[in-house]
Amino acid sequence: MKYDVVVVGAGIAGPIVARNVARAGFSVLLIDKKPAIGAPKQCAEGISIKVFDKYDIPYDRRYINREIYGAKLYSPSGHELELRYKEVSGVILERKVFDKMLAYYAAKAGADVLARTEATDVIRRDGRIAGIRAKHEDEPVEIRADIIVAADGVESTIARKAGINTYAPPHEFDSSYEYEMLIEGYDPDLIHLWFGNEIAPRGYVWVFPKDEDRANVGIGINSDNPETAKYYLDKWLRDNNIPARKLLEVNVGVVPVGGFVRELAKDNVVVVGDAARQVNPMHGGGMAEAMEAGTIASKWIVRALEEENLSLLQNYTKEWWETDGKRLEKVLKVRKVTEKLTDEDLDLFIQVLSGADAEKIAGGDYVEVIKALLKHPKVILSPRRIKLLKQLI
Ligand SMILES: Cc1cc2nc3c(=O)[nH]c(=O)nc-3n(C[C@H](O)[C@H](O)[C@H](O)COP(=O)(O)OP(=O)(O)OC[C@H]3O[C@@H](n4cnc5c(N)ncnc54)[C@H](O)[C@@H]3O)c2cc1C
Repeated sequence: MKYDVVVVGAGIAGPIVARNVARAGFSVLLIDKKPAIGAPKQCAEGISIKVFDKYDIPYDRRYINREIYGAKLYSPSGHELELRYKEVSGVILERKVFDKMLAYYAAKAGADVLARTEATDVIRRDGRIAGIRAKHEDEPVEIRADIIVAADGVESTIARKAGINTYAPPHEFDSSYEYEMLIEGYDPDLIHLWFGNEIAPRGYVWVFPKDEDRANVGIGINSDNPETAKYYLDKWLRDNNIPARKLLEVNVGVVPVGGFVRELAKDNVVVVGDAARQVNPMHGGGMAEAMEAGTIASKWIVRALEEENLSLLQNYTKEWWETDGKRLEKVLKVRKVTEKLTDEDLDLFIQVLSGADAEKIAGGDYVEVIKALLKHPKVILSPRRIKLLKQLI
């Protein structure tokens, strides 16, 4: 088999790249090791409404479970901050359908798609990577390609095998545990997030509603924690008297929350999405980031093929670092400071912040928020809090 481009991984980033490159008229193969693309999911399935227009993805009810109007944040001792918008701000997807449909859109645009096809290694010829070795339905296959895209998620083997350094220390990953379960009593128009060092060290517990009484209920904590994410999630359910007897799914996953890959393209190999650690380090959301990286990467892949100049792939690294990379580095800085917050700080900050400010924090536009916090008497009178907040400016 020979293609212009082979894309390994049909999660979010892979199909976006495959679709865009196929639309430009080049031959593309998109492979995924899963027998059914999208399943099992490892995701809370929340995404901003903006991505549909921005990345040209149909707003299709087949994969939109629920429209969301905002978020509710809960501090360690129970202070609440509600951010409710008049318009829909996000959606909860059905990723099993969404991922498969993204692969379908790539196929419709002209890409070939092979499920149950696992990349096992790269092929090297005359000192350069000439494609990948894979197993398709357990049969070995060689796929030759001019450009190889590693969109193979957090465990990414292909980038590493191609000599791209994707190493990040354990502290730069979150461990996540999630039940899709029946749960009642939470406004299903909002996502719900609980913070606290005893509740979810470094992270948060989430309830992302699907239907009126079904939700993804999960947790992310620092993966170098001595206790497991499951331990904290089960404790939270017990402490809140929520019976865990109607569990429809159990998902375990690792989320990169830092350690962005420096070199996103090496010779003819490109790395995108979780494989490149392109995830928001504050909230662990990575679908929009994967779409953005996939869009930038595919632009330069198309140019490199059109101009028969593979060195143009380096512009993907450059452009990503000058745009989304720069933004996510700022968010990472915020994450590192929030790691030092005590439960009392979290209580105070959630009380003080207005809705718009909290939204800015999540998006990385936080200077106004810091300024607002620095005006509060309980901050002004605490040299430690002032020092923490000043680190962010
Ligand atoms: C518990 C949890 C909750 C999350 N919640 C959210 C959320 O609410 N919102 C959000 O935006 N993000 C969320 N994320 C993060 C989000 O899921 C990822 O950032 C996103 O899926 C990254 O997309 P990707 O295409 O880079 O990788 P993935 O979606 O992981 O896709 C990688 C694909 O590559 C395939 N693959 C791997 N190795 C090979 C191989 N050797 N050969 C062939 N195929 C291979 C895999 O089967 C997979 O389909 C969550 C993550 C976790 C773990």
